[in-house]
Amino acid sequence: MQDRNPANSAEREMAAEAYLQQLKTTFEQLPHDIPLYLFTSKGHEDVFTHANRQTIRAFRELSSKITLREYDLGHELAQKWNVTSSPTLIIAPERVSIRWLGAPLGEEARTFLETLILVGLGQGNLSEQSLRVLKRIDSPRNIKIFVSPSCPYCPQQAINAVKAAVEMPDLISLEIIDIQSEPEIANQYSAQSVPQAFANDVLIGQGAQPEEVFVLSLQKLETQTVFIPESDAEVVETDLVIVGGGPAGLTAGIYAVRSGLRTVIIEREALGGQVATTPIVENYPGFTQVGGKTLVDIMVSHALQYVQIFQGEAVVDIEPGTVITVLTNRRKFLTKTVLMATGASHRHLNVPGEHRLGGRGVSYCSTCDGPLFKGKKVVMVGGGNSAVTEALYLHYMGVDVRLIHRRDKLRAQDFLAKQLSANNISVLWNTEIKEIKGKERVSEIVLYNHKTNESSTLQVDGVFIAIGYTPEVELASKLGLELTEDGYIKHDGKHRTNVPGIYSAGDVEGGYKQIVTAAGQGAGAAMTIFEDLINPYWMKDQAQSVVAD
Ligand code: NAP
Repeated sequence: MQDRNPANSAEREMAAEAYLQQLKTTFEQLPHDIPLYLFTSKGHEDVFTHANRQTIRAFRELSSKITLREYDLGHELAQKWNVTSSPTLIIAPERVSIRWLGAPLGEEARTFLETLILVGLGQGNLSEQSLRVLKRIDSPRNIKIFVSPSCPYCPQQAINAVKAAVEMPDLISLEIIDIQSEPEIANQYSAQSVPQAFANDVLIGQGAQPEEVFVLSLQKLETQTVFIPESDAEVVETDLVIVGGGPAGLTAGIYAVRSGLRTVIIEREALGGQVATTPIVENYPGFTQVGGKTLVDIMVSHALQYVQIFQGEAVVDIEPGTVITVLTNRRKFLTKTVLMATGASHRHLNVPGEHRLGGRGVSYCSTCDGPLFKGKKVVMVGGGNSAVTEALYLHYMGVDVRLIHRRDKLRAQDFLAKQLSANNISVLWNTEIKEIKGKERVSEIVLYNHKTNESSTLQVDGVFIAIGYTPEVELASKLGLELTEDGYIKHDGKHRTNVPGIYSAGDVEGGYKQIVTAAGQGAGAAMTIFEDLINPYWMKDQAQSVVAD
């Protein structure tokens, strides 16, 4: 959509120019040159080769430190460095062992930029906690990270690996593999979702991991889920810690800082929550149609003007008290209040085969994994707004998709439902999946129609599941927050929970679960927190109980 306000577009141009200047200065200050070697096949000009040249050209305009040499795959250097596929980009081979198979497109441009900076810096910029673990590695690690340009979770995991490879070039080598450019390698590893991280051919992480968890998984050559920092972790004092960087948390951050509260947001995965992977949003006021990730980027850059965001950091424990302690995998926050804006996570079908074939054809993210199924046959399970939006998205990108719904009527808004039939996307009504089958990857599903009581099988390459979300309340339960019968955080009209100083907002509260309502709840919670910090209701309760005694 075009911005008709000349003042706004001029402001944006100025901001973009300032950002560019800042990047140029950053590159100029880097101590090392960044030579790039691109290997391509003569006469074979595919989209990835073209995109690679374009992207590198754009980055080279930033600094003369970035140089490019292009060679044919038949060149002796290709043999020397064991390069066999086109395009392959080798980054500063004199100092690090990092290669990119495919092109740094879309979300991966972020990874590429950070890689160039870290390589130019000659340091991984890992946290002290991660460095301690990394130093325990005493034998070679060859990391492979599978990514795709449309995956908002991928840069976090790829950058974790780049940091490790830059920090320990003698032992750690890295291949970043665009799964669309290199489907055969992805097939060898049965990798059908992104990001996936392998070290020495062992799967060490599916999805984005906090940096410390990634490094621990790399050291142990086994997927780890939690990292508890050592006792001398950094301590940060705040008025408010917001757990979760979705629309509720980001809005709360803006409101809280504008009220004068020292506030931080902690998000363990991609910012924006579910919105980051929603293909198109059509009901957020001010935007007739906007990509979910674009909307998130706008919200995040707005929030960053006010609030510090600790992305890629996972909260592992919260201890209530007059001063509340929030422990992450990296540091300790001492805070007066906490806002739980932890959102919700994908609901599972809980049928045989679903867990085993996760990332092997079973997917919960059509924007991340959809491109891998172009021209292939998949089903989308669910009848709500998410399932229909995502089925349409898959259809538009050339995936042969069918919807499977357990009832004979969709829960999705009429507007979306009509688009299904307009695009000839067929629906298997009154049907449930009973089992997902496949050896290395999904090949067949077993269906049951509970109107006709008939069972059948269907050959498919993928099963996308969008059957709603379950509230993310693990931390809330651990710290003693009361939950509703449906498992959401119990709260009053002002977003206060049963534990003094702890509040809730967004999908974890239940209710309408729209982007706009989550943002509203975040704003409401931040305003309550501001009022309560001036006039703490829990102190009033104590005073009253002292009087009553
Ligand atoms: P949802 O609205 O809760 O719908 C879930 C669907 O999955 C329902 O059709 C349900 O069937 C089906 N289902 C649930 N459990 C199942 C199972 N075990 N097996 C088979 N099917 C099952 O979830 P959603 O579509 O993910 O949407 C979640 C929330 O986000 C909603 O409030 C939605 O409006 C919102 N959303 C908002 C936006 C936006 O603001 N732009 C975009 C997308 C989604 P039944 O119908 O039989 O219950």
